[in-house]
Amino acid sequence: SDARVFSVVVIPFAVSNRLLLSRDVSQIERVETMRRDFVANVSHELRTPLTVVLGFLEHLVHDPGMDPATRANFTNMLHDQAQRMNRLVGDLLTLSKLENRQQPLPGEVVDMPALIAALVEDGRALSNGKHVFEVQDEAGNLLGSVNELRSAFGNLVSNAVRYTPAGGIIKLRWHTENGAPVFSVADNGIGIAAEHLPRLTERFYRVDKGRSAQTGGTGLGLAIVKHALLNHQARLEIDSALGAGSTFKAVFPAARLIVSASLAA
Ligand code: ADP
Repeated sequence: SDARVFSVVVIPFAVSNRLLLSRDVSQIERVETMRRDFVANVSHELRTPLTVVLGFLEHLVHDPGMDPATRANFTNMLHDQAQRMNRLVGDLLTLSKLENRQQPLPGEVVDMPALIAALVEDGRALSNGKHVFEVQDEAGNLLGSVNELRSAFGNLVSNAVRYTPAGGIIKLRWHTENGAPVFSVADNGIGIAAEHLPRLTERFYRVDKGRSAQTGGTGLGLAIVKHALLNHQARLEIDSALGAGSTFKAVFPAARLIVSASLAA
């Protein structure tokens, strides 16, 4: 009869619709929870230095006769905390730009030797002579966004400096593996225990919050790396052992490599 045809045809649709709907709802809930956590994290990360700033300002205002050495000390600490807030807001803006990029990549020819030289210069400035830098530049140029790659690679270099004790070696390597261009930063620093690796690129995820904050970390560096690489269809590989050091590798699609005449020869 008609009724039987109706039930055969409609019920499977109804079931699959309901399944789809509940999957959509749980996806929306997940996104909403992430958004709430993010706002709570940002608020907390800003409030911590702000509380310190307000405390020092109160002392300065209420104690005009404070001795000059203490005053200078307080002013320095105010400056440090303001810089910390500035770094956080800067990283938040960088991350939001990476996520909302309008023009699609490929983009421009990135002069890798020049970019690597700039990265080493920035790394040396941050290291303050405490680390040895080694460079191995064996590939050509890359098709992509120089700004995004500079901020991704720059974060890898600054992490290598910040998580490697004085005297450590930081190696920047640009080469190809099975035709795929690979940029890597290796250090022989404190390393990361395996259980942390899957969560490292999450915003504000840190192995040691104290060390991260003390060395100027915002907790957003690897989230920036992840999004910049995603925009280049590249993946991040992390190889690390506690106490032995870490290697962070950005593996790009072969199509992004521009082999220069001198390297091809
Ligand atoms: P942060 O500002 O805290 O450094 P990141 O997102 O750059 O934030 O890194 C997340 C965490 O990953 C760091 O807090 C640190 O625990 C760990 N990490 C990143 N790079 C290294 C490294 N080269 N060696 C050891 N640990 C690292």
